[in-house]
Amino acid sequence: MRVLLVEDEPKTAAFVRRGLEENGFTVLLARQGDEGLSLARTEAFGAIILDISLPVLDGFSILAALRESGSEIPVLCLTARDTVAEKVKGLELGADDYLVKPFSFSELLARLRTILRRGTQSRDPVIRVADLEIDLRRLRAMRNGQRLDLTAKEFNLLALFAQRQGEVLSRTVIAEEVWDVNFDSDTNVVEVAIRRLRKKMDDPFVLKLIHTVRGVGYVFDSNRA
Ligand code: CA
Repeated sequence: MRVLLVEDEPKTAAFVRRGLEENGFTVLLARQGDEGLSLARTEAFGAIILDISLPVLDGFSILAALRESGSEIPVLCLTARDTVAEKVKGLELGADDYLVKPFSFSELLARLRTILRRGTQSRDPVIRVADLEIDLRRLRAMRNGQRLDLTAKEFNLLALFAQRQGEVLSRTVIAEEVWDVNFDSDTNVVEVAIRRLRKKMDDPFVLKLIHTVRGVGYVFDSNRA
């Protein structure tokens, strides 16, 4: 998962970045507020770790701008300001959580994982992967802000992939999960459905999410070339 870290203090930035990378995250660092906002608007991230006191544009302004434009990306604020008023302001502006410096990396990681889980499960049943959003309650999917016109089977197929990211799924497993049946091994129902889904969901975009694993099946992964 890609995380955007907006932090101007070199030591804190290095410490957080190293810890996240050791835990399997890909980290993009912005040292100025304006740069952070621009990256948040143009690239896909699973979450933002946002310092409040930043050069050019502060964290509150970044958060407000993102929420005003409709972004629901999970945001964890980092700050040395620990007054109640500042915390309330951050949460009112739409921060998902708040961590006061100095903090331990393990606490940051725990908070980050919590907001990521909440972001995809309990807050609303929406799965987000890169620029893809799957709303399991409304049964609709968006990519790069545009609604994907999917059939019910294509939607279920996409939801299955997104819920089991990184796991190679065989045609048999996919058939059982999406069609609730076992197809004869010589039918190509699964291949045809995946081809149609890719045409709508992956082909128009640079970042491909569904990958073929020859002789095995398919994997949904936003980190593969
Ligand atoms: Ca700062």
